[in-house]
Amino acid sequence: TDFGYKTVPTSEKAGMVAGVFHSVAAKYDLMNDLMSMGIHRLWKRFTIDLSGVRPGQKVLDLAGGTGDLAAKFARIVGDNGEVVLADINDSMLNVGKEKLRNLGIVGNVRFVQANAECLPFPDNHFDLITIAFGLRNVTDKAAALKSMQRVLKPGGRLLVLEFSKPQNMLLTQAYDIYSFKVLPAMGKLVAGDSESYQYLAESIRMHPDQETLKSMMFDAGFDEVEYHNLTGGIVALHRGFKF
Ligand code: SAM
Repeated sequence: TDFGYKTVPTSEKAGMVAGVFHSVAAKYDLMNDLMSMGIHRLWKRFTIDLSGVRPGQKVLDLAGGTGDLAAKFARIVGDNGEVVLADINDSMLNVGKEKLRNLGIVGNVRFVQANAECLPFPDNHFDLITIAFGLRNVTDKAAALKSMQRVLKPGGRLLVLEFSKPQNMLLTQAYDIYSFKVLPAMGKLVAGDSESYQYLAESIRMHPDQETLKSMMFDAGFDEVEYHNLTGGIVALHRGFKF
């Protein structure tokens, strides 16, 4: 099921993050729809539109989880293209595998268990890399961005879809209440697990804001980095090129 890429052992902290996703994997898609009130679908749609992906291309959907983006890319790149859904967590990968199989997407998607910090792929391999709601969970983000830059082809692009900093006070306050009160309660009710959703809210607050992530991408060697705020900056889509 892979291209002979080796799976890389994970650090202890990465193992802990992986643990969080083991416990949410089965309910992940349902929770995504509930918690974002379906809006994550629009954020992902925007990502696909900005990807410029074409038939025949090679795409890496990193921290791809249950495969929402990978499924869309697989349809676009077609039989001559290749999509790699890579994730550190095998429970998430298994849910993704099953989902794509049920959608009838087979043949051009490979599933690889890998840590974003040390990607097990050759240099200059992919036309496009996406990481959606994944970079936040990665311990060494600088190492991960460098690793992505290495496996991207010259001319290729990276898209980072991630929670970011809301752009006005009112939205910030509403969002704080939502994520620290409503989300853990919802997590407990639906998934029987409030801790993982508490972790979610905390990891969002710790994540670098729009401008910080932009400079981190420049530091990792990306060019022409820019970002789009979505839903008032609750989420941002960063794009960078490798020249
Ligand atoms: N991209 C999917 C989406 O947008 O629905 C899944 C996002 S989910 C919130 C985050 C994913 O990141 C999980 O599947 C988790 O296993 C994965 N992840 C966390 N740390 C990682 C790492 N260091 N390397 C690769 N994947 C990682």
